[in-house]
Amino acid sequence: MPLPPCPRITLPDLPRPRAWMVLLGAMAAALPLATAIPDGSSHTVAAEPAVPVAPPPVPADRGPQPAPAPVPDIRSQVVWRASIAHGTANDGWLENGVVLPPEGPGFYTYNPVTQTRPNLPGRRTATATMVRDLIDLGEWWAGRHPAGPRLGIGDLSQTSGGAFELHASHRNGTDADIRLPRRDGVEGPADPSIYDRGMTQEVVDWWVRRGVQFIFYGPHLSVSGPAGEVEVWPNHDDHLHVRIPDPDGTGN
Ligand SMILES: [Zn+2]
Repeated sequence: MPLPPCPRITLPDLPRPRAWMVLLGAMAAALPLATAIPDGSSHTVAAEPAVPVAPPPVPADRGPQPAPAPVPDIRSQVVWRASIAHGTANDGWLENGVVLPPEGPGFYTYNPVTQTRPNLPGRRTATATMVRDLIDLGEWWAGRHPAGPRLGIGDLSQTSGGAFELHASHRNGTDADIRLPRRDGVEGPADPSIYDRGMTQEVVDWWVRRGVQFIFYGPHLSVSGPAGEVEVWPNHDDHLHVRIPDPDGTGN
C-alpha cells in the first residue's frame, strides 16, 4: 500500500548557522572521550560539555518586539463621582465623595491618630478635584524624587464630610494634610528638627502653581509663598494643610 504523500512543511526562515558554529559542533562531537593519565592506563571519562555556544544573533529583520505590559494607571483604581463640596470647609459636608487610593506613585496615606499607614477610607475621602490633585502631585513627586521619600497624605474628609475629630475644618472635601518630607528619607512623622526644608518648599510651590486657596504651615517651619495663600498657623509644625478652592463653585 503506497504511503500517503508527505505533507509539505514550510520551515520558518531561521538564521543560517555560522560557519564557526558548525565547526564547534563538529569538534565537540569528535573530542576524544579517553584521557590518558600518568600511570599509563587509560580511562574513559564522560565528555566535558562543549564550550558554551553563544545563542544565534537576533536577525535584524525580526521586527518590533512586544512592548512590556503597561503599569495600570492609579486613576483606574478610583471610583470617580460627581462630588459636591457643600457649605464651607469649617461648616459643610461632602456629597458623592471620592476615596483616595491607600497609596500610589509618589505617595502613601497615614492615619494621624495612630500614625500608621494606610489611612482609613473614611478619612481619605474628598472631592474628585482634590483626589485628582493629590494623584497628580504624587506622580510629579515620584518623577522628581524617584528614590523617595514618598509624600505622606494624612486626613482629607470623612465619607460624607461633616465634623471630623482633630480638625476644625476638613468638612467638605477641600482640605488635605501632607506630612513634611524628612531629611533622613524616612517616611514617618516629622517635626521642625528633622523636616527637609527644600523638599517642603517644593510641595508648597507645586500647590501654589496648581492654584490653592490656602496652605498653612507651622510657626517653627521655614516656608515661603504668596501672602494670603501661604500662611503660618498654629499646630502645623508636622504637616502642611492645603485647601483648594471650592471645585464646584456652588458654595452651598
Ligand atoms: Zn488639616
